Formats: sequence, structure tokens, C-alpha cells
Amino acid sequence: MIKKFIRKMLGVKPQANIDGSNSHPKVLSAMEHGIDPRLLSSNAIRVTQTLQENGYKAFVVGGAVRDLLLGVKPKDFDIATNATPEQVKRLFRRAFIIGRRFQIVHVMFGQDLLEVTTFRGAAGDASPKDEHGRVLRDNTFGEQHEDAVRRDFTINAMYYDPASQTVLDYHGGMADIRKKILRIIGVPEARYREDPVRMLRVVRFAAKLQFTIDAATSAPISVMAPLINNVPNARVFDEMLKLLMSGHAMACLQQLRKEGLHHGLMPLLDVVLEQPKGEKFVALALANTDERIQLGKTVSPSFLFASLLWHQVVEKWDAYKAAGEFSIPALHLAADDVLNTQTDALALQRKIGADMRDIWAMQPRFEKRVGKTPYKLLENTRLRASYDFLLLRCASGEIDAEIGEWWTAFIEGDELEREQLLIAKPKSPGAAPVAKKRRARRSPAHKSSPAEAGGE
Ligand code: ATP
Ligand code: MG
Repeated sequence: MIKKFIRKMLGVKPQANIDGSNSHPKVLSAMEHGIDPRLLSSNAIRVTQTLQENGYKAFVVGGAVRDLLLGVKPKDFDIATNATPEQVKRLFRRAFIIGRRFQIVHVMFGQDLLEVTTFRGAAGDASPKDEHGRVLRDNTFGEQHEDAVRRDFTINAMYYDPASQTVLDYHGGMADIRKKILRIIGVPEARYREDPVRMLRVVRFAAKLQFTIDAATSAPISVMAPLINNVPNARVFDEMLKLLMSGHAMACLQQLRKEGLHHGLMPLLDVVLEQPKGEKFVALALANTDERIQLGKTVSPSFLFASLLWHQVVEKWDAYKAAGEFSIPALHLAADDVLNTQTDALALQRKIGADMRDIWAMQPRFEKRVGKTPYKLLENTRLRASYDFLLLRCASGEIDAEIGEWWTAFIEGDELEREQLLIAKPKSPGAAPVAKKRRARRSPAHKSSPAEAGGE
């Protein structure tokens, strides 16, 4: 405080350190930052308080501070401290040290999980990197100002102390929040080289927050985009999932395209962004996902990926049928093809792949609206997701809207109504014009499979 006063009197500006870090943050009072303390979670306060009572520094940091400053309730809280992971672990009953690349502590209270990270030190040349300069592991601890310079964007590098209600701003994050600008800390090229995933993060934040990307931050992206190929697939997949589940998926994908990040990088993205036929379906699926997330509803990754890849499945399904395969086995073969490619390329977890297959495989079964079949479907654990998927197909015009309406009535109806629905439409084709065309195209030498016959 005194130092600051003297500096002010002498008109000396705080100097940046050699590594670009700035040891003297702007200290913003409650009046200046305007954070509503009610948006803070009681567990975040509990963690910072416990750490502080034990003599450590502790702050809410990163995305949570950014969201608080924007008046948004953060979805999770990250805590930064000068206590080491072991010291943190000792203070909480349910605390687990995790991570290799960056060691962090997960502190749990019931279902609530808080990530506690120890201030990271200057990366230096010591940390192991791959041949492209990507930092592989980094567990050097350091001072708070060093931690700030290691964070990605100015708006993500602010620290909030719930006790004093002050915000420490090391890199002009507050000014950027006001100007709605996303600005990377340090030299953009170097920061993307250290961690190419930051390029995807820029896009996600820009789309989600509706911020502009600073020109210098955006400039190297299209050139450096291929570096993402060197990042382990699982990490890219995680980031893609965050992007698609940000509640602004469509905007994110448009932004990816704008930044030149979509092409040839991820097989899934190519499929999603460059399939003319499935565009409407994908747009609807993403709009549906965005809406659900904005309403606070859950979205399953399997439903999302099943939607994004559906038209690839349909294309292959048609090809197998044209080659003489029966409809149901053709669908399974098509699903195999798509899943095999995408599982490798995207590190799609097995469970997600299995769920996607179930959703796809259920689709022809909705066409069979006779006898006991519809009742059996009601008991299927995959009904909800598959039915939602069916409605998407109706909405996109792929199949007749009538079939979706029939199923809505059947699912919501009582016993009597269900029986009437079955009587009223005992032999309803329920198939779409597209499906009819497909049949017409099939070689005359083929009879319908028994499974298809049920729906005719
Ligand atoms: P959200 O949780 O809303 O997606 P976030 O900013 O909290 O956004 P997290 O992935 O939770 O994102 O990361 C927490 C903080 O850690 C970030 O705000 C940033 O300060 C830092 N951070 C995360 N990823 C990186 C990265 N790749 N490079 C540098 N800093 C990062
Ligand atoms: Mg976060």
C-alpha cells in the first residue's frame, strides 16, 4: 500500500517483469467491480475461508470471476492458492490430488466439486515440451503474478477474494470485460504453441460471451490451426464437447469457420460443417441443444453426437441398401462404419458410441405401428432419447411429421387412447417420402426384410 502510494507520488508506473508478468495488480473495490456476492457459492467461500484461516492466500479465479463480473452465476468455481496440493488436501475431508500435466486438487462437498490450483510459476524452459513446443507437464509453483501471466486471456486472469470483496486484476481484464474484448496474455504465437487448445478456447468464449477477438489474438490462428492435430484426441474431444455444450454451439461453429479452424482439423467438424444434405438437421440439433442448455436442462453427449453424425449414417445406409443389403442390417453396417472412423479420430468413448448406436438403431422401429411392437418400445430404456431424435428427423423434413405426432400421442396417451391409435392407423406406412423413394430405388430383386414388412 505504502509502496503503491510512493509510486503514485513519484509518478512511477508499475513495471512489467522480464517474463511479462506484472507484479502489481490493479486492486478493485466492491464499488469498482460491482460483483454481487450472492452469486458466489457457499462452498467457494468455505474453501477460500478455510485456506485463509490456515495462513494461505486463496482466491476465486478464472472463469468464475469473469462470470461474476458479467453478472452471471458461475457454473463452477476454481480456487487459486499459494498452498501446495498436499497442504490443500490436508485441510479438507474429501480432497483428491489429480492430474499429470497440471496437478490440481478436487475438493468435494456432496455433489459439488471445486478445483483448487496452486499458483503456477514462470514456465521457463525447464518444463518438458513436445517437438512442436507444446508444454507436456508443468508443476512449477510460483507467485500470484506469475500465475496470472500463465492464464490464457486477460478476462480469465482476475482473482476475487470473497473476504475483502476485492478483485486483483493483473492484465487489464476489467477494461477488456467492459470493452467486450478477448485478448490473449503475452505473445499470441507463443501462447498457442505452448497449448494449441487455446485457439479453440478463444472461439468458445467469443461465441459464448459475444465478445470480439482482439486483432493480434486472432491473427495467428488460421496459420497455427494445424497445431491442434498434435494435441491428444481426448483433450480435443473434451474441448469440442465444451464448445458444443456451451449453450452457443451454432455460434461457436460459425466462429470456428470464421477463424479458419474448422477445415481438416477434426473429422467430426468436417462432417458437421460441410454436409449440404444434413445441414438443416444439424442446425436443428444444435439449436435444440442450445435451447435445452440455456433452459438449464441436460443434454447427453451421445444424443448430440448421434445427431451430428446422423446424415453420414443415412448416406452410408442408403449405399448399403443400394448394394442389396436389407434395411436393418444396412443400418447397422452404416453405424459401424461411422463409429469406427469417429471413435478413432475423436476418442469417442465406447459408452457414448454404444448409446449413439442404440439411438440410431431404434429409428426404423418407430415405423412399425402394429401389434405389440409399439408397446415394447414404450418399455425400452432408450425410448426418450430415440423419440426426441425421431422428432428432430420430423422437424427437418427427413420423415413425415405425422409419425412424430402419432408417437407423441401414443406415449402420452392412456390405454384406451393407445388402442384407438393402433386401430386408427393399423397399416399406416409412417414412412417418409424420402424413405419411399429409397424403396423405389432398391433393386427389384430384393424382397422387404421381415422387419420392414411390419411397418408397411
Ligand atoms: P468455463 O469453465 O466457463 O468453460 P473457464 O475460464 O473457467 O471457463 P476452465 O477450463 O474452467 O475455463 O479454466 C479455469 C481457468 O484456468 C481459466 O479461466 C484460465 O484462467 C485457466 N486456464 C484454463 N485453461 C487454460 C489454458 N489452456 N491455458 C491457460 N490458462 C488456462
Ligand atoms: Mg471453469
